[in-house]
Amino acid sequence: MDNESVERAVGALLTALGYGPPHFAEFDRTVTRVRRLFTEELLAGCATDPASVLSNPLPADPKGCEWIVLEQVQAVTLCPHHLMPAVGTVSLGYVPRDSMVSFGALHRLVRAATRRLILQEESAQTIVDALTGALGAQAAACTIRMAPTCFSAAHADGCQAVATASAFVSTDLSRWSFRDFLLLCTNSAGHARA
Ligand SMILES: [Zn+2]
Repeated sequence: MDNESVERAVGALLTALGYGPPHFAEFDRTVTRVRRLFTEELLAGCATDPASVLSNPLPADPKGCEWIVLEQVQAVTLCPHHLMPAVGTVSLGYVPRDSMVSFGALHRLVRAATRRLILQEESAQTIVDALTGALGAQAAACTIRMAPTCFSAAHADGCQAVATASAFVSTDLSRWSFRDFLLLCTNSAGHARA
């Protein structure tokens, strides 16, 4: 990303919002802070192809393959409608075919799929597609639960709102279902059984 252009654009936004000179001096470092927050944090996933973080798999025994689940990974994403962050957790799981990856790689997959201008459901689908595509998993599931700050800022009575999105793929629904995944997620187990 072009840092100078981003900082100029942030400065132009402040000016358009009525915070131009003489106020602008107060915001001298704001443009750099905002640029760094967006390019180095909120949009850091754009530099990574989600499938590429799964490119060094370990062998897995297909006979013993069952769900591998990583729950409650802290995550942040940027709403493409309002350019505001949503903060929450991602739970993901997959059934290996003949390859598996470290939890560290799953964490990097979450970062690559969420730290973008992207809707939660698209992030969930990106994660599932990478697990079934690049890793060749027999099934994959992802649930994202996040508090969207754009919603809570606009609706004071909705400030506790949490949005949930999910995605799921299975090559054999009789063996690997989304319900199985939810039952393995301790935080969702009660919900799944209800
Ligand atoms: Zn929004």
